[in-house]
Amino acid sequence: MPSHPPINVPRHVAENLRSLSLAFHPDSISKYRFDRPFIPQFISSRGNEYFCEIDEEYLTDRFNLTGLNTEVQYYQYALDLITDVFDLDADDDLREQIEKSARHLYGLVHARYIVTTRGLAKMLDKYKKGDFGKCPRVLCDQHPLLPMGQSDLPNQKTVKLYCAKCEDIYNPKSSRHASIDGSYFGTSFHNILFQVYPALVPEKSIRRYEPRVYGFRVHASAALARWQDARREDMRERLHHANIDATFVEDSEDEEYEFDDDNEDDDKPDISKEVVVGDQAPARMDMGV
Ligand SMILES: [Zn+2]
Repeated sequence: MPSHPPINVPRHVAENLRSLSLAFHPDSISKYRFDRPFIPQFISSRGNEYFCEIDEEYLTDRFNLTGLNTEVQYYQYALDLITDVFDLDADDDLREQIEKSARHLYGLVHARYIVTTRGLAKMLDKYKKGDFGKCPRVLCDQHPLLPMGQSDLPNQKTVKLYCAKCEDIYNPKSSRHASIDGSYFGTSFHNILFQVYPALVPEKSIRRYEPRVYGFRVHASAALARWQDARREDMRERLHHANIDATFVEDSEDEEYEFDDDNEDDDKPDISKEVVVGDQAPARMDMGV
């Protein structure tokens, strides 16, 4: 590679470049002032909006940190930095390493903290404010999302966002959020939150997008929709027999549901024989059973 001649960059441009490089490589340059409390700096840094503030009592109780000393490099220094008792004359490289470890340690403790009563309440506040974003699915009407991990082990998967309305998961929009380790939230937090606050579980809806070509339903997906409807009715009937009545937002309140005892026609439709509208419609679909 030929080396480029040095370019004289005006100061304001250089500062912009520096903040840009911070934006794309948040780990590359030290952002923290070691003489100021760590947690407020961490919480208020751009990209850390999903995290809540861990109580000091929680962090100083060794029992809560069991096992983390083997997970994090420079564990004791990292913990000292988080709890603001850091007192080491370290060079910049070492400080950067310790700071990185402190962020990792904070994340790992965060996953444990947010399933405690206090932690759940803090995350609930953020959820209500929409700090984790809104569901991108049009038919979810901007339902707020919750952060979640697909693994409880670090360095496996990045954080995803869960929508309780469509019960599906999404990638965060911003690249800063998309690079956060999913284990800092864990696989259970979002489900525990709804167990502890069952009133927050949204009503189930049967609304869905229906593909149409000039107003006519596209046959393959219409067949799939009919099959899914039949499965839903079947599920509702089984729940009814188990004395659990499932309701959907669209059910009218005074409508009594009637159940047919010999519901034998829930076979998969043979949609490969359906007349398909348009070249793009799939001839066959995997029904995923
Ligand atoms: Zn949704």
